[in-house]
Amino acid sequence: MEIKNNNKFKTFFKRFGAIGLAGVFSVAIALTIGLTATHPEEQQPVSTGAMVFELPMTNAVVVKDYAEDRLQHNESLKRWEAHLAIDLASENASVFSIYDGVVASVETNSLQGTVVTINHEDGFVSVYGSLADELMVNVGDAVVSGQEIGRASTSATNEIHSGAHLHFTLLKDGETVDPNNYLDLQNK
Ligand SMILES: [Zn+2]
Repeated sequence: MEIKNNNKFKTFFKRFGAIGLAGVFSVAIALTIGLTATHPEEQQPVSTGAMVFELPMTNAVVVKDYAEDRLQHNESLKRWEAHLAIDLASENASVFSIYDGVVASVETNSLQGTVVTINHEDGFVSVYGSLADELMVNVGDAVVSGQEIGRASTSATNEIHSGAHLHFTLLKDGETVDPNNYLDLQNK
């Protein structure tokens, strides 16, 4: 008796379960067709919209890392300070724009040396300090990602103990950010 009932239940489930399943599939297929028809762009590969930055120097070593909350001793100025930039040095010393942009300013002062500021899209600004005087760009120039803009040097006297290097600062919406979060410095 029990076995019979069980068989009945199985039969019932087989019959109506199959119908139910068919119904679910029909709805799923209809939805898929509907979505495809109304939103064809959703079938395209998804673009994250994330900006991919080039490195400002190739084969570079980090001379001094970014440190917001930790004071580092500045040998040149004989004082402890936060370092809201990353110092890079490489044998060839070439410095590249990390992204497409426009040269917003070129300035030279005794402490930071020659400094090139490039405005990018999405609120990003990259600042290249301690450059040699001879630059490959001028104010107002449009630059592309990876374009050489100048060479690292010892022009920043406030960091002259670091030797020839690039003092690289990255800003987002006017705030200094840690370049390590945006540049793939581990795969340089
Ligand atoms: Zn520095």
